Amino acid sequence: MAERFEVPDGWVLQAYQYALDPTAAHIAVLESHAGGARFAYNTMLRAVKANLSQREAEKSYGITDADLTPTLAWTFQSLRNDFNRRKHQVAVREDGTPWWPENSKEVYANACKNLAAALKNWDESRKGKRKGPRVGFPSFKSKRSARAFAFTTGTIRVEPGRHHVTLPRLGTLRVHESTRKLARRLEHGTARILKATVRFERGSWLVSFTCVVERAASRPAHVKRLAPVAGVDLGVKDLIVAATPDGEEVLRCKAPRELKQASRTLRALQRKAARQQGPWDAETETRREPSNAWQRTQAVIAKQHIRVGNLRRDRLHKLTTSLAQSFDVIGTETLAVKNMMTAGGARKKGLNRSLADAGLGEFSRQLDYKTTRYGSVRVQADRWYPSSKTCSGCGSVKAKLSLSDRLYVCDNEHCGLNITGIDRDLNAAINLARYARAEQSACFDNGGADRKTTAAAALVAMKPESSNGSASPQGEAA
Ligand SMILES: [Zn+2]
Repeated sequence: MAERFEVPDGWVLQAYQYALDPTAAHIAVLESHAGGARFAYNTMLRAVKANLSQREAEKSYGITDADLTPTLAWTFQSLRNDFNRRKHQVAVREDGTPWWPENSKEVYANACKNLAAALKNWDESRKGKRKGPRVGFPSFKSKRSARAFAFTTGTIRVEPGRHHVTLPRLGTLRVHESTRKLARRLEHGTARILKATVRFERGSWLVSFTCVVERAASRPAHVKRLAPVAGVDLGVKDLIVAATPDGEEVLRCKAPRELKQASRTLRALQRKAARQQGPWDAETETRREPSNAWQRTQAVIAKQHIRVGNLRRDRLHKLTTSLAQSFDVIGTETLAVKNMMTAGGARKKGLNRSLADAGLGEFSRQLDYKTTRYGSVRVQADRWYPSSKTCSGCGSVKAKLSLSDRLYVCDNEHCGLNITGIDRDLNAAINLARYARAEQSACFDNGGADRKTTAAAALVAMKPESSNGSASPQGEAA
């Protein structure tokens, strides 16, 4: 198994994902592999826990360190070897016949690898060596947990017909979309498959090929560049609004009609289910047997959830691709997902649902890797940069801007936006564009040192003539 694969210069890692169209026989094998992976994970997690409490108990009896039961090392190799010793006893049927040979040995190895990673994350988080939220101790996987397993060796192939893939133990399976893009690259030797991950998600089995792909970080030839620099505001009303530093709106994306319609249908179904006899009787506050009608509605709701999710995902991908391809420098706000979803994040709560639900974190993640892929740059504004409250006309900053204000009207009576006002999302986008441009030039000027000050200074320099008399607001950014 490739532990540390060095990606060669000019090559990048890229995943290609396809929905599988498995036969009943395939599904049995898929389920078996997913079950095997879960079994290996849980078996070794149980072993690790048992080992920990054994040593704990021994210590409490006063046994010296030297005589303690040896630690079960949390490395991938150690866990895998240990599982390989155990499997002859534990991965067998009641009549004693082993079932473990029915699955590829890779699914067990991968499960051990995942467990090793989970234990390491917990350990580092506990010792404060890991950034981000605290990672808990790994928990057992249930039948309801994500079903997933991976292959790194064996026959992993994309068939020349463009509609089939071949995987170890499974053989050839049909896929729903054409594999053309990946197949072409494989044929030309500009892609290599490192790993195939199979998972059950959103009601279907998916295969994801992790590949190294030779590609220059550049925009595809057929895509037109809309502007060198743009600011992107995740709007309150529309999904996104993009504008240049000169105040020109270059892109505005609304939530697609089919997504709105699908969400509306979903809500209607949920209301319908609420009127039916569900598993909870609110009057007597007891559980009860749900009616058949309620169960039927639940099945439709589950399907509709998948459809809404798919539409949203599709939308998000198209949006981030188009942003990464259309501009060289893209300025956005700092998308601290946690802050938006929790207490302080009432800011966009209930509004801009289409994007918020799809996940601002996911928007951010996609924009990051796509800008890298297409050779553009993303500039995130400082967390406290008041992109919505700043006037793009004169640079003054409002103390308060209500979410219901669709229009930004400047308080400065000498400012052109004092009477007419400007669409609030466009206003924010322009500010972000200027921020990004300033950051970028600051980066070139002094190698990135002291960026914040320079950005603020550049903003002052950019203020139009009309801004006489307004108090300088730029200190705000600090
Ligand atoms: Zn103004």
